[in-house]
Amino acid sequence: NRGLSSHAGRLEGKIALITGAASGIGKATASKFISNGAKVVLADVEEELGQATAKQLGPNATFIPCDVSNEANVSDAVDFALSLHRRLDIMYNNAGIACNTPPSILDLDLAIFDKVMNINVRGVVAGIKHASRVMIPQQSGSILCTASVTGVMGGLAQHTYSVSKVAVIGIVKSMASELCKYGIRVNCISPFAIPTPFSINEMCRFFPGTEKEKLEKMIFDLSALEGAVCETNDIANAALYLASDDAKYVSGHNLVVDGSFTCFK
Ligand code: NAD
Repeated sequence: NRGLSSHAGRLEGKIALITGAASGIGKATASKFISNGAKVVLADVEEELGQATAKQLGPNATFIPCDVSNEANVSDAVDFALSLHRRLDIMYNNAGIACNTPPSILDLDLAIFDKVMNINVRGVVAGIKHASRVMIPQQSGSILCTASVTGVMGGLAQHTYSVSKVAVIGIVKSMASELCKYGIRVNCISPFAIPTPFSINEMCRFFPGTEKEKLEKMIFDLSALEGAVCETNDIANAALYLASDDAKYVSGHNLVVDGSFTCFK
């Protein structure tokens, strides 16, 4: 079949590992992958939430606690997926934080900068490294990462976070060129603002004391595209495309999912 694969089962028989999968984009993607035939290992630093999410997603979801800033944890998560399923087809390095960095760089404690880099950049590098040690002998695999529109255009009060996401886009392009000879594709997705615990915490910095529902609406109202807002499912759909054979010749790409927002800047 040389056409687009049918909608059901686009990841039939595939094994995926997703970091930051207890919540938000990672959880929505895990659910999407499972409904398309994959078995998914969910890795997250939040153990209780991760276990509950895996339970909610059913028997094709398994949870392993993992702090992506700890290389041994990432290595263990890859080995866990391997011990359960004997292979790894998709590695989605999605975990990331913003860490309440202060709006002004003058107030920046560089320890916070290091913390964000350790998770958002070092964690992604560790994920690519340990997925590659499985995928290179397999001679196949699809590696995904979550970057951000702030990695494409910067953003107000985003000095630390933006640097980390520029780095993710850079790693993806470098790794795509290194790993192509093994049949491994490497891509990232740059989402626009979506109300998740991550972005709601971020908004709280600017509007302290505002209730969650109001913050969610404020995030949705940032959308430039009339009649549509950015939701976790939009990122899960992008991840499904990039992970699947529909994107078999797409590598080194940053898929911006922003309803045209970056085109205005
Ligand atoms: P979220 O808060 O819903 O989910 C993030 C998950 O990552 C959480 O479950 C959290 O426990 C986990 N996590 C945090 N630190 C970790 C660590 N050290 N090791 C393992 N897991 C860890 O947020 P989300 O919006 O789904 O964020 C997912 C990714 O999307 C992040 O990389 C974020 O930078 C990126 N992103 C989010 C938005 C947005 O507006 N929500 C926009 C652009 C990019």
